[in-house]
Order: sequence, then structure tokens, then C-alpha cells
Amino acid sequence: MKKTLFVNPPSYEGFDGGAGSRYQARREIRSFWYPTWLAQPAAMVPGSRLVDAPPEGLTVDQVAPLARDYELAVLHTSTPSFSNDARFAARLKEENPKIQIGLVGAHVSVMPLQSLNGAPAVDWVSTGEFETVCAEIAADKPLSQVLGIAYRENGQIRVTPPRPPIEDLDSLPFVVDVYKRHLKIKNYFIGYLKHPYLSLYAGRGCRSKCTFCLWPQTIGGHRYRVRSADSVEAEMTLAKKYFPEVREYFFDDDTLTDDLPRVEEIARRMGKLGLMWSCNAKPNVPRRTLEILKDNGLRLLLVGYESGVQEILNNMKKGTRLDVVRQFAKDTKELGITVHGTFILGMPGETAETIQETIRFACEVEPETLQVSLAAPYPGTELYRQAQENGWLPAQTGGLVDTHGVQIAALDYPNLSSTVLFHSVEEFYRKFYFRPRKMLSLFGGMLMSPEVMRRRLREGVEFFQFLHEHKRSGPTQAGIGAGS
Ligand code: SF4
Repeated sequence: MKKTLFVNPPSYEGFDGGAGSRYQARREIRSFWYPTWLAQPAAMVPGSRLVDAPPEGLTVDQVAPLARDYELAVLHTSTPSFSNDARFAARLKEENPKIQIGLVGAHVSVMPLQSLNGAPAVDWVSTGEFETVCAEIAADKPLSQVLGIAYRENGQIRVTPPRPPIEDLDSLPFVVDVYKRHLKIKNYFIGYLKHPYLSLYAGRGCRSKCTFCLWPQTIGGHRYRVRSADSVEAEMTLAKKYFPEVREYFFDDDTLTDDLPRVEEIARRMGKLGLMWSCNAKPNVPRRTLEILKDNGLRLLLVGYESGVQEILNNMKKGTRLDVVRQFAKDTKELGITVHGTFILGMPGETAETIQETIRFACEVEPETLQVSLAAPYPGTELYRQAQENGWLPAQTGGLVDTHGVQIAALDYPNLSSTVLFHSVEEFYRKFYFRPRKMLSLFGGMLMSPEVMRRRLREGVEFFQFLHEHKRSGPTQAGIGAGS
């Protein structure tokens, strides 16, 4: 067995781009998702170590020397962080020329050959789901026999046949054991979740076909493969024992609510354990299901509203209808379920008028908090293909983030420039949050709880600093989308 190091490499300061982040960027408020996708293979390789550098604030100089003690390093990479990660891999090889280095994640899955060519220090990349890839390579299986990789051999790049997706997710070991051994859970923040929170997956893949959405189009696929409720309950029981300080559990499945009987069953198990929890959801969950979830500890839904214009929802293949969405918003409010809503500006068909319509819609459905994104064309997505075909990718940028790790407005339409889009993000936040009713409700929450007050004040300062800094530095994106 190779002595194995799993790393979310150091990148831009405050960069939330690790193996659990759907859209990799520095956020407007300091945020970090759990590196669950790396914790999973780490759980399958005995004696391995997981280092999540960004939340720990670790620098390249602090992490790179670890290479001297390992035979295999597996780095999670992404489109925005790829150049940094390739440089980090080279640094690991300087520290230990004998170490074998693999890159995993959506970016290398979509572009394995370009990735190996762009990262000379890397020995192999995965071309899909990578847990078993890592476990087999750590167990010294010859690279030529490992399904689902591209690798170097005698100066050439070879590609092995694709690896079928894992069907029996219950066969995977629990990630919470890895969290317990290697992570400091207080380092993980998400603005709208209670702190400390803990997240994991109860399944992977999404049946929906949203054109912008990265994971289902690259690694997870369009079938929702699930763990049994027994397996989820057993891991949550362990998590409760390991981390009594956790105040909220988050199911980060692309769309936990896609399978109603199952989410209701999982809710009942969470209710039995007495845990407060939250999850991603499409805005189409029927009231009866919402009631069951709420009765069993559901606090918050992270909801992809995306747009308030039906035609744009249709263009992005969201599969939601505005009348159903309005009913969902009404039901969640009446049932006391908090909603964090995500919106995307700049999807195909967007105009200055539709942006205003979406802002009005957001004020109407009124989630507790929201996140506004600019459309981000990730390689491997249909949005990327559309952007290439239609010439919406400005030649002068060609990336997804700026030199600070903040997303840039990556699409430029003939009738809607990236600069106009950029300013619309700030306008959206302003028009949504600076309404007397909204401000009263936010201040009300602060007065009720000193903790909420401390947190909102800190986040408020960070948020306005972020907008101020990036307003000066050009048309950047102040928020990013989420699942569902
Ligand atoms: S945005 Fe949500 S619903 Fe759409 S494909 Fe992605 S995870 Fe599924």
C-alpha cells in the first residue's frame, strides 16, 4: 500500500474551491464547504492523510514539505484553480522527486489530455468518479489496469477505458471518520448555515439537466444514485457522537428532494436522532412533503430559483414552472422553513429587462437570504458548449476567476455586456436587502440573538468590503450558484 496524501491545495486567499465546492471561487463572505469528495477516497486508503489547505490557511511552503513523507499525492483540482494546482504539483515533485501525483475532479475528467499536458509534474488524472481509482493506485495496481484514468508511460499519454459509476453507495466507508481524524470542523463556514455545521452526501447525481450545472454533467451523472436510509442514519449517529458541538447537518446531494418517499424517510430518521438539518432543493417540493421534513428537524432549504422569467428557466432547462415556484415559496413561509435562494444572471436570453423582472420576482418570493451569481460556463457543461458555439466567451479573458480567485463575468452577449451584468449583481443585492421590510426582519433577528448579531455584523462588513474591492477591480462576480 502506498503511503498516500490527499490534498486540497493552497490557492488564492480565502478560495473556496475544494473538493466539495460546486463553483470554485473566493466568496463575498468567508465560506468553506467540506472536502467530502477527497474524504471519501481517504476513507478507503488505510493510513492516508487529508490536508484541506484553504480553510486551515496553509501556504504552499507549509504543505509542500509533507511530500517527503509520502509515495502518492492526490490533489483535487478545478478549472479556476488548475494553474495554481499544476504549480503546486511541481513543487511537490521538487520536494520529493519520487512521489507519484494524481489530479482528480471535474476539470481533469473533462480535459484529461490537456490537463496532463498542462501539468508536467502530474503522473495521472482521473476521468470520472475517482474513489476506487485512488484506492486501486494506492494499493499498487499498475496504472495500465486502473479503469478511468489518463497517465504517462514512456513519454506518451495513455487513456484507460471508462470506469462504470459506483452503484452500491452503501459499500463506501463513512466520511465522518476522516473528518474526525483530519479536519477542524470549526474552520468550515457557510453564511446561511448555523456554525459549526457538517455536511455529507446521501446520494450523488441529479436527474435534472440544467445547462450550467457542473457536477451532473461531468462526474455525478443524471441518475440519482442513493445510499439507503439505514446507511445515512448510521453515519449521522456516528457524526452526532463525534461532533456534539455541530448545530446543523447539511445534505449536500445535488437535489435531496428529487425522490420524495426517500427524503421523507431520511427526514424521519433525522427526526428520530433529534438533529437539525438542511439540504438542497428544487423549488417544486409539494407541501405534504415539506410538512414531513419540517416536522422532523428540517430548518433550511438551499433553493435554486435561478430566474424569475419562465423563458430563461426554459432556456437553461431548469424544469421548473413559476406558478409552482410561487406556491413552494408560499408553503415554505407558512411552514416556517427558512430558504436561502440562489439566482443566476446572464443565462441565455437575459436582457436588462429580464434582470429587473428577476429582481422583482426575488422580492416577491422573498427568501430569507440570497446569493446572486453571474452565469459561469464551466468546461463540460452545455452552457460552455453554447458559449463557444455562439462566441459569448470574450477572447481577452478566457478564464473563470481573476487574480484574486474571484469569478469574472465570463460571458459577453451582443445585447448585454459583462460590465452591465456585473453592475446588475450589486443592484440585485441592493434592491433586495435595502427594502424597509427586509431590513426590519434582518435587524429583528439580530436583536433576538447576540450570536446572530455578531455574525451578521461580521458578514456585513466582509460583504461590503468585497463589493467595494471588486467594484474597483472590474466586472467580477459577487456570488456563485449552488446545487438544485
Ligand atoms: S442546478 Fe440543481 S436541479 Fe439543476 S442539474 Fe444542478 S443540481 Fe440538478
